[in-house]
Amino acid sequence: MKAKAFNLVPPAMIAMVLSFWSFGPASLLKNPWTLVAISPLIVIAVLLLERVHERHAGWRMNRQEFVTDLFYVVLNSVAISWVAERLAENPLKAAKASLHITTEWAMHLPWLVQVALVIVIFEFGQYWMHRVMHNWHPFWLTHAPHHHITQLNAAKGAIGNPLELFLISLSVLALFDFETTAVFAAFNTMSVVTTFAHANVRADPPIWYSFFFTTIRHHSLHHSTDYESTRCNYGNALILLDRVFGTYRDGESVLVGQDDRRRLSIKEQFLFPFRGAIDRIAARRAQAGPADALAAGQDGDAGSQRDTVGGAAAA
Ligand SMILES: [Zn+2]
Ligand SMILES: [Zn+2]
Repeated sequence: MKAKAFNLVPPAMIAMVLSFWSFGPASLLKNPWTLVAISPLIVIAVLLLERVHERHAGWRMNRQEFVTDLFYVVLNSVAISWVAERLAENPLKAAKASLHITTEWAMHLPWLVQVALVIVIFEFGQYWMHRVMHNWHPFWLTHAPHHHITQLNAAKGAIGNPLELFLISLSVLALFDFETTAVFAAFNTMSVVTTFAHANVRADPPIWYSFFFTTIRHHSLHHSTDYESTRCNYGNALILLDRVFGTYRDGESVLVGQDDRRRLSIKEQFLFPFRGAIDRIAARRAQAGPADALAAGQDGDAGSQRDTVGGAAAA
């Protein structure tokens, strides 16, 4: 009975989000802070559900994970969204205005159709960005820290190198004139789906949900230790796109993590894409060290000056 009830929690939460944005009090719907507040509330609600009906004991929240997760939830909702708005959304809106592009037809569509379209447009971009990240090394270096997490929970969708978090937030949605409530409803719906897709909750939604939306079964397989299994189920919220583009794979994984399953610290997650360059500089320094010592013992020829300059530059 409890299991059956929990299986219906993800779709029920989507129904609640949609009801709120279509029938909620106008004062709340117009307040720009409402969207900012609801996303963390969804994560908190699902974290509480983890304590009631856990999926795997090995994924249980602990103090170390909690501190890291909290850091990234705040980083995403403050810094990443600020940078994305300044560097991507605003220039796109300015280009739209200067080119006199109008898409007012969008806001005249039925409200639920608008919500669905926002999800499809946003998720289409996310799907291809995610797929590129798994297939092009420079982009993989930004995404790899997300695959180094060694356990899943409701907040883990927020974990990643800041470059990845910025790249995955990009979309062309600013070009469309949808109703604001439809855009917010769509974002909260995707929040519910992606939060449950990382959550340690024993909830396996019915087939009519998992045909369209990503679940923890799909996404845990994407996080698995088996390389081939990570190259499937790229859809962040819309697993339907994997079905359409031939990257869908059925299954589930309990063991998650990359390579040797070593958990990365926040510092390591931030520096990960630059690790190759950092290692090369360190190797050059190690080589330059003995050369400096040799140069210091010689008098005035140009070669020893170059070594010394090189050593100083690397220091
Ligand atoms: Zn991935
Ligand atoms: Zn993930």
